[in-house]
Amino acid sequence: MTAEHTGSDVDVVVIGAGVAGMYAMHRMRADGLTVRGFEAGPDVGGTWQFNRYPGARCDVESVDYSYSFSDELQQEWDWSERYATQPEILRYLEHVAERFDLRSGFRFDTRVTAMDFDEATARWTVRTDAGHEVTARHVVLATGSLSQVNLPDIPGLDDFDGRILHTGAWPRDGVDLAGKRVGVIGTGSSGIQSIPVIAGQAAHLTVFQRTPNFSVPANNHPIDDQTRAEHKAGYAERRYKSFRSGGGSPFLPNPKSALEVSAAEREAEFEHYWAKGGVLFGKTFADQMSDIRANDLAREFAEAKIRAVVNDPETADKLIPTDHPIGTKRIVTDSGYFQTYNRDNVDLIDLRATPIDRIEAGGIRVGGELVELDVLVFATGFDAITGAAERIDIRGRGGALLRDEWADGPRAHLGLMVDGFPNMYLVSGPFGPGVLANMVLGSELHVNWIADAIAALDTRGRATIEPTAQAVDDWLTHCAELGAKTLFPRANSWYMGANIEGKPRLFMLYAGGFGRYREVLCEVAADGYPGFELAPAPQESAAAR
Ligand code: FAD
Ligand code: NAP
Repeated sequence: MTAEHTGSDVDVVVIGAGVAGMYAMHRMRADGLTVRGFEAGPDVGGTWQFNRYPGARCDVESVDYSYSFSDELQQEWDWSERYATQPEILRYLEHVAERFDLRSGFRFDTRVTAMDFDEATARWTVRTDAGHEVTARHVVLATGSLSQVNLPDIPGLDDFDGRILHTGAWPRDGVDLAGKRVGVIGTGSSGIQSIPVIAGQAAHLTVFQRTPNFSVPANNHPIDDQTRAEHKAGYAERRYKSFRSGGGSPFLPNPKSALEVSAAEREAEFEHYWAKGGVLFGKTFADQMSDIRANDLAREFAEAKIRAVVNDPETADKLIPTDHPIGTKRIVTDSGYFQTYNRDNVDLIDLRATPIDRIEAGGIRVGGELVELDVLVFATGFDAITGAAERIDIRGRGGALLRDEWADGPRAHLGLMVDGFPNMYLVSGPFGPGVLANMVLGSELHVNWIADAIAALDTRGRATIEPTAQAVDDWLTHCAELGAKTLFPRANSWYMGANIEGKPRLFMLYAGGFGRYREVLCEVAADGYPGFELAPAPQESAAAR
């Protein structure tokens, strides 16, 4: 069925119409299930609907950062650049929505506010801010790991007379920054991507930097016809490799240790991987993310690159990260970022040296001085991984509230399911690979596992699937052990929950590699779901007693 299912009882509710929710709608319908979708935003696209800031692009190559489930789709879509812009990615997702008639399954501008599991019927009741009340056997939370924007509570924010923007909620009709004095707070991926473009548009730009970040030039370029034809002919192999790789794209890290090669070879390898661009620099040596000595060598190389392009040595000092090993926060993929600070119309304020006093009507007061601004851009990121799910009042068995259960840190077996919350599935949730891998393929992997689990229940005449508490505990321990073998826990990153005040601090991702993770999911499904309880409908189990 492809038309909107309007009944109030469905097999599956899908929350969110980003990359993951769109594919969930498609796959579940293809499996013959009745599906209702709800999306808080005005249309499909998720991340790519909301992050319309100047300079927004993917940092995984477009040819890889795209759906693999339909070869017709792969063959008919032409990517124009190595790293596509936000408008192009959104056009692609709109095309997918049209092609597979996905919009008809979603209610847009509709936020799910609550969902309750009824143990007597083994069904979820899902409620929205538009008054819908739908019951479903299964609920897929495709609510996004980077969808809940973080607007820091800086004193005086409400006093500002100018325009306040957040990169993750950029106005649909765009913003004219010409002639404006603009301030950007935040130098993560969103800040670093937008700053060079904003500098070119605005009369003056002041960057308020709390922590500098590592960034590697994208080496972006248009895709010519021959390369495009090669991509299309090579999709099968590309996807095969991607699903078996560490990061969900068809690139393997150099297997050598940075410590075992000569200085000359090391330098040459760093140059080689630097030229590949962006996050691929993280693959220069096998031990770069696990041995601080190897990481220090990569860090020193990156530092020299920053110094080589920033004219003023004091500014370069401010731009060089000293608080975290390179790669433990996402390495940004930039287009002319560090060079932006050579422009006459750009100032950098180091908030560690001179913190913000307060925001006032005319701008931001820093170290006693007012920086006058017309527009203030928050590039301050997201309440990541758990934020969107925790904003919904989700009540599982015994009325337990998910956000209370997660108060000391989230729980999720295989990054997919939570004990006490049967038939509720997280896509790109905590303790999956998340953003450590290409998230389009990650979404497909999760949705396929979920659809297969639903089919397995139906085949066996079971009503619910739920992980055991022991399985969740074991998976969390496994993820913590994998994380401890890496340098990730050394950074105050959003992977650690460290960007949000009061959020429990723990490494919330699976660091064992995308390929290995996929194997684990396949093994669990093939072995009949060990670690999960597959239970009959409550009335059937009562009758059997
Ligand atoms: P989202 O795209 O975030 O979609 C979730 C949807 O759920 C949203 O539309 C939201 O409105 C909706 N929603 C949330 N709560 C509710 C609710 N209660 N009720 C109804 N609807 C709700 N990843 C990569 O792998 N490569 C990249 O290059 C890359 N670039 C990125 C660039 C930016 C600027 C950002 C912010 C992220 C990037 N990511 C990248 C990560 C990106 O989030 C994922 O790749 C992917 O788009 C996530 O898709 P999703 O469907 O899981 O979540
Ligand atoms: P982010 O990485 O969390 O960066 C947020 C920035 O805001 C940091 O520099 C942070 O400083 C700063 N900040 C937060 N609160 C602040 C405060 N109160 N005062 C001053 N500064 C503050 O968020 P993001 O840049 O939006 O990126 C999030 C993720 O989205 C990325 O890691 C990536 O996965 C994805 N993304 C990808 C791309 C891409 O290239 N394709 C682009 C954008 C986003 P601290 O470091 O000190 O906390």
